[in-house]
Formats: sequence, C-alpha cells, structure tokens
Amino acid sequence: MYCRDRTTCPPEPWRRWIVLSNDFCREQACLFPTQTPEHRVGATRWVAQGDSTNCPYGNCRFKERLVRRSSSSRDMVGVNKERRRKKKMEDSEILKKIQELKKAKNAVIIAHNYQLPVIQDLADFTGDSLGLSRKAAETKEDIIVFCGVKFMAETAKVLSPSKKVLLPKINAGCELADCITADEVDEYRKKYPDAAVVGYVNTTAEVKTKCDYCVTSANAVDIVRKIDKKQVVFLPDRNLGSWVKKNLPDKEIILHGGRCYVHHKFKKEDVVNAKKSHPEAKILAHPECFPEVLELADSVASTSQMIPYVRDSKAKVFIIGTEEAMIHRLKKERPDAQFYSLGGAQTCYSMKMTRLPDVLNSLEKEETEVTLPQEVIEKAIIPIQRMVEL
Ligand code: SF4
Repeated sequence: MYCRDRTTCPPEPWRRWIVLSNDFCREQACLFPTQTPEHRVGATRWVAQGDSTNCPYGNCRFKERLVRRSSSSRDMVGVNKERRRKKKMEDSEILKKIQELKKAKNAVIIAHNYQLPVIQDLADFTGDSLGLSRKAAETKEDIIVFCGVKFMAETAKVLSPSKKVLLPKINAGCELADCITADEVDEYRKKYPDAAVVGYVNTTAEVKTKCDYCVTSANAVDIVRKIDKKQVVFLPDRNLGSWVKKNLPDKEIILHGGRCYVHHKFKKEDVVNAKKSHPEAKILAHPECFPEVLELADSVASTSQMIPYVRDSKAKVFIIGTEEAMIHRLKKERPDAQFYSLGGAQTCYSMKMTRLPDVLNSLEKEETEVTLPQEVIEKAIIPIQRMVEL
C-alpha cells in the first residue's frame, strides 16, 4: 500500500508504523496537518526499529499516542497535555542554549529545505546545498553548523576550508550521493575519453575531484548547454540527467543509474489524480522525479526555483513534488496559499535525523566535525569554480 516499489523502501532498520488516529500528532515539528492520504487512518509510515518514542517527522511521542488512544480517561488527556507542555518547555530551553552557544562560539547555523520545520526555524539561513555552502563561506563566523546530510557538509568544507564544519548527525548520508565512487568516474573517463564529466552537487567531495564541472538541479541544463563538448557523462542522478538530455537534444548525454529514493516515489498517476482533485492548482516537480512526472507538471523546479515561482504566482493552491518539508519553507512565502504534497508526503529519512538535541550536542562538544584531506579540498573546488565561471 505505502510502498509501491520495493526499491523505494527505506533501508533497514525501519519498520512499518501504522497511523491509528487522525489526531495523534499536535507537535510543532510534525507535518501531519498537510492531511495527505498517508496521514489518514490506516495509512502506513516507517520508523526506526526500537525507536518507539519518536515519529519520523519530529518530536512526536509515539508511545504517548498509544497511551492516549487506549485510555478514555480525562486524567490521561491531562497527563498528556502536561507532557506536551513539558516537551515544549524542554525545546525552548534547548533553543535558548543553542543561541547562547552559537554566539559564544561564533557559529552560523544553516539548514537545508528538507530539514524538520523546527530546525529550519532555528537556522540563520535555509536553502539548497550549494546555495547554503556559498552563503556560509561569505559569513564571518568560524564555525558552520550544517543541518543536512554529509555531502552538503563536505561541500561547505570545500568552500570554507579554514572554518570548522559540524554536521549534527554525523551518520546522516545521502543514498544518491553514495551511489557512485571516484573509481567509477575513472572508468567513465576511460570509456568516454572525449566526454566532459559533469557531477551533480549531490556527490561526495572525492567524486567531485574527478569531475570537470559541478551542477545543481537549478542550473544543470544551462551549464551543460555551455560546455563546449558534445559528449557529456552526467552523474549520478538519472532523472536529472534525462531532464538535461530532453532539453539539450544536440548533446550526447551518458547517464549514470543513480536515483533519489524520495523523488522516485512520485508517480505519473499522482500528477493525474492531483490535476483531477485540484484542477486550479499549480503542480511543481523537482527534476529528480521520473520524466513522466516532469512531463505533466506545470513547472520543473529545484527547491531554490520553487520559492520565487510560488512567491510570484497568482495561484492559490500548489501541489509540491519534492520532499515534504519544502512545504514549510514555501508556506512562509505564501501564507495565504494552500499546499499539498504530490500523491502523499514523501520523507527523506536522513534529513529527518537531525533534532534539536543533536544541534546542541554538536555545538557543545564539537565532535561531529566533517574534515577532508587538503588534496581533496583543492581538487573538489575546481568543478565548482568552473561552474561559477561558465
Ligand atoms: S532527498 Fe534524496 S537526494 Fe536529497 S538527501 Fe535525501 S536521499 Fe539524498
């Protein structure tokens, strides 16, 4: 029911989590109010094995929900209200400590658009991975706390080699970025010696050292158009590469087979159904979605392109085909508009690993630092510089 494609299942150790009640989550950080089909009674979600106290969206108390549901006593409701009040108090204390430490240690906090709302609200800047890394490089702070996944923190380190870059959840990885190694890029080079090698920003720093150009989902078509070679190896995302190929039929684009499991969950029928149920809505799809989804969308847009689109649009309803937390960001631009996730909210589990206590621990102990060999930093910046110069 939830998982239409075995390859899109979250990796172990996740287990199925059944939505038992429509009013279970009132926590600030949870995206439940989007009211998408997957949040309705009987829908299924996934949580980490043994992690029975948290839902994947935020700080919801999974156990509390069960207790509240199984008890009809007014006392229990009162107890839960008290627990929620305490939790909010705890959060506000953590936030206060984070702000104090941030000031004392001269740190800047940046958060990707897919982070939990509570983390986005805490950050000094929110945005996409390269935009944030460039922004952080321009700031005067000595420490960058990057609330995101590992390749993003690596990119920040490449652009700010003298700064300390902290990734609050050091094991937050990206399946797409990890699907290609530097050795595989070498093999592509041997096989296609005349081709330019273009790497999506969602790659490790080591892979970037092997690329000629770096691109983002926002500029991939423009950058590849400007490259003076006809043959281009595009890696690792197949759908983004296909989008480039479609827009540049004169180029010979060789695709790697990588994919983002989150964007792979959006299907053509989701767009068809969305158009039927909300004919007045504008449908925005990220270029990491399947080509047939992009074909039907009103706009193919990266997260950074969705913001001006929504801000400047006269439409009042938007259906968003990317990770669900993007809606939190877009609502800030258009509080008057209604937002829905395309086909049901889709979650990047790595992005949701970072919680307030992780940010606090990271700032307090400075143990979750992302470091790179000097040689990697010097080589990985080259494709990024070439992209900027092109
Ligand atoms: S949404 Fe996809 S590409 Fe982005 S971090 Fe998650 S797995 Fe990686």
